[in-house]
Amino acid sequence: MSELRVADQTVKAGSKELVRIPVTQDLVMSVDIYAHVVAGKTDGPTLLLLSMLHGNEWFSVLILREIVRRIDPSNLAGNIIAVPVANPPAMVTGTRCILDDSDEPDANRTFGGIYDWMSNQIPRAIDEELLRHTDYLIDYHVSDWGSTMADVSYTADYSDREVAEKSRAMARAYGFPVVHALRIFSGLRGSRTSLGYAGEKYKIPGIVAGIGGLGFGEEQEAKVVGDERPGHSRSHEGTKNDRGSSEDLRPVPPHSRLLAGQPAGRRLSGACGWTG
Ligand SMILES: [Zn+2]
Repeated sequence: MSELRVADQTVKAGSKELVRIPVTQDLVMSVDIYAHVVAGKTDGPTLLLLSMLHGNEWFSVLILREIVRRIDPSNLAGNIIAVPVANPPAMVTGTRCILDDSDEPDANRTFGGIYDWMSNQIPRAIDEELLRHTDYLIDYHVSDWGSTMADVSYTADYSDREVAEKSRAMARAYGFPVVHALRIFSGLRGSRTSLGYAGEKYKIPGIVAGIGGLGFGEEQEAKVVGDERPGHSRSHEGTKNDRGSSEDLRPVPPHSRLLAGQPAGRRLSGACGWTG
């Protein structure tokens, strides 16, 4: 197999490299995305792993680290490109979105965008430098704040049925017992998510792997979900106040289960306020 070139950097077959993808120059520093490129010894498809398009969803970083550490490129057919922190500015502020007062603040709703907000430039860099190499996509997100349950989602309503079927096969192959079929185009997320954009424009099958839990360990999780959030119960459709008040009710998308308010101790969502 020949070498793989990502962002003007060459990665030889059978090796791993960390590749810097320049995005833009901020006032005081450059904004870059870093991708671990694992180039297999023999030919095969390329799997792109994205994580932290939302800056407060850090659990998947550990998963990508283990994947990169454990995969031996000399035994790999094809390639893995792993991006642990796809949205560094949002990670720095610990928020879902970049706090730049953008018209389009959510980097997982801005693929294909025409503007130059930071939240447009980040998906553009992923598009131009990574999606052109990609055959399959896994985009990691949280499975909603406060949820201990993980899930795997695929897009069921691509215009190309074959892409939808391949995505479904990926979701089942992932091996987790909870699978959601998202209506990403007729539903709320839309064609400018990573999955919607890659699947519709480039026919790249993909899934969202939703990581469960709050990421603080079982003890902290139980504390936040249980002791510190009295009066709230979760249901599959959303969150409601047990006292019957409507003040904490929020509109809930079909496949999200939002906790009303924030986990204790720290503001964890950005201005756009969604989870997942
Ligand atoms: Zn997310």
